[in-house]
Amino acid sequence: MQYISTRNTKQTFAFKDVFLNGLAADGGLYIPEKIPSYSLKELESLKELSYEQLAVKIIFNFCSDEFNEIEIKDLVNKSYKEFRVKNVVNIKRLENIILLELFHGPTLAFKDIAMQVIGNMYEKILSDNKKVINIVVATSGDTGAAAISALKGRKNINIFVLHPHKKISKVQRKLMTTFEENNVYNLAIEGNFDDCQKLVKSMFIDRSFNNEINMSGVNSINWARIIAQIVYFFFSYFKINNGSQKINFSVPTGNFGDVFAGYIAKKMGLPINKLIVATNKNDILKRVISTGVYKPKEVFQTISPSMDIQVASNFERLIFYISSNNDQATLNKMEELRKNNEFKLSHEQLSHLKKDFVSESLTEEETKSIIKKIYKNYNIFIDPHTAVGLGVLDKLSNDEINIILSTAHPGKFPEVIKEVTGKYPELPAKTKKVIDEKEKFDILPNDLNTIKKFIKEKAK
Ligand SMILES: *Cc1c(COP(=O)(O)O)cnc(C)c1O
Repeated sequence: MQYISTRNTKQTFAFKDVFLNGLAADGGLYIPEKIPSYSLKELESLKELSYEQLAVKIIFNFCSDEFNEIEIKDLVNKSYKEFRVKNVVNIKRLENIILLELFHGPTLAFKDIAMQVIGNMYEKILSDNKKVINIVVATSGDTGAAAISALKGRKNINIFVLHPHKKISKVQRKLMTTFEENNVYNLAIEGNFDDCQKLVKSMFIDRSFNNEINMSGVNSINWARIIAQIVYFFFSYFKINNGSQKINFSVPTGNFGDVFAGYIAKKMGLPINKLIVATNKNDILKRVISTGVYKPKEVFQTISPSMDIQVASNFERLIFYISSNNDQATLNKMEELRKNNEFKLSHEQLSHLKKDFVSESLTEEETKSIIKKIYKNYNIFIDPHTAVGLGVLDKLSNDEINIILSTAHPGKFPEVIKEVTGKYPELPAKTKKVIDEKEKFDILPNDLNTIKKFIKEKAK
C-alpha cells in the first residue's frame, strides 16, 4: 500500500516514510492512497477472531510492504502481553449502557493500545539501522506516558515528551516522570497543550533541525496509531452486533484521532451507523459539526484534561475525505485557517460530514453528575473522559445501540472521583507503586528556541 499527503495526492510514500516522518513535508497528513475494504462476507470471516488475530489482519492491510504477516503477528503479541485482560479490551454492560474499556494497558489509557505497537515497529524498523532517532511528542496527559512506556530503554531511540506544566493530573504526571531509563526526557512547558503541540509542529517543519537530530513523532497524527485503533471498533462491533439494530460509537474526543479511526473502520466496510464526537467544554468539534465553522478559541482547563484541545490535528484528514478526496480543497481550508484563524466548510462538505458524525458536549457539572449517577446506580467508577462519552448520549437520546469508548482508568483521576463520589478509586497493583517514586522532569518556558536548544543538547 502506498500513501499520499492530504495536500498533494500526486506523490506517493511508503509505510516506512509515513511511520518515521509523521507529518508530510508539505505540511499535510499522510493517508492511504486507497482504503482497503471488506465485503459483508469477508467481515463474517473476521467475526470469531481473537483481538490479537483481528489486529494482525487489520494492521497487515496497511503495512504489508514493510512487514510480513509473521512479523506483524510477533509484533502484536509482544505489544499486548502485559495487558491486564485477555482480549486487550473489555466490554462492560450496565443494563443498556455498553462500555468498551480500552484502559487495561500499562499506563491506564487507550493510548497504550496503539503506542505499544508503535514501540515494537520502531524496534523492528531501526534494528538494522545504526542511526539514533529522537522522538519528540506533545501530550495532553496520556500520550506521553503511553509513549514512554512503549519506548523506554529501547536502543537507538531517545524520547522527549512535552506536557503542559500543572495542567495534567498528578497520576498522569507520575506515570510519565518516574521512569529511570536514560533515554527518557520530560519537559513541563509553561503553557497549555495547544502550545506544546504547536512547539512540536514547529520543530517538525523546521527541516534543518529535524534532520540534525533525526526527529520522529508518535503524536496522534502518526498513521500507525490510527491503524492500531481501528481494530477495537471492529472487535467490539462484532461482539455487540445481533443484526437487528443500528450501532453507534460514542467517542470522547480531543485531537480527533480515536474517532477518526472509527471513521476509517466505517470506510473499510464496518456498518457503523453514527460516530458520536463527545467533547467537554472545549467544543470546537461540536461547533464545526453543527455550524460548519472551525474556529479555535481559548483552551479551558477541565476535569477531562486529555480532551483540553482546540486544534484537533487529525481533522485535516477528515477535510480531505469530505472534500471528495480533493487535495487542493483541503489545502485551501488549511490556508484559510492559517490566515484568518478559522475556516468555514462548504454546504456540501458539511452535509458530507453529517452523514457520519454527530456531536454533543458536556459541561463540567454534567460530567460530574454522570460519574455520580453511575457510581450510585452500579457501584462502579468511571473516569471523566468516559463520563463525557456517556453523558452526551442523554442529550442525543437516540434509541439505537451505542458503544461508549471508555478511554481511561478511573484511578488516573482520583481527585475528581473522590470529590464526586466520596471515595478514591483503586489503581491496579503495578501502577500503585509509581505514586511514591521519585520524579524527573525539567520545567521550561513556552519558547521554541529554548526547547530546541534543550533537545539538541540531549539528542545523541
Ligand atoms: C487522548 C485521550 C482522548 C482523546 O483522544 P483523541 O484521539 O485525541 O481524540 C480521550 N480520552 C483519553 C483518556 C485520552 O487519553
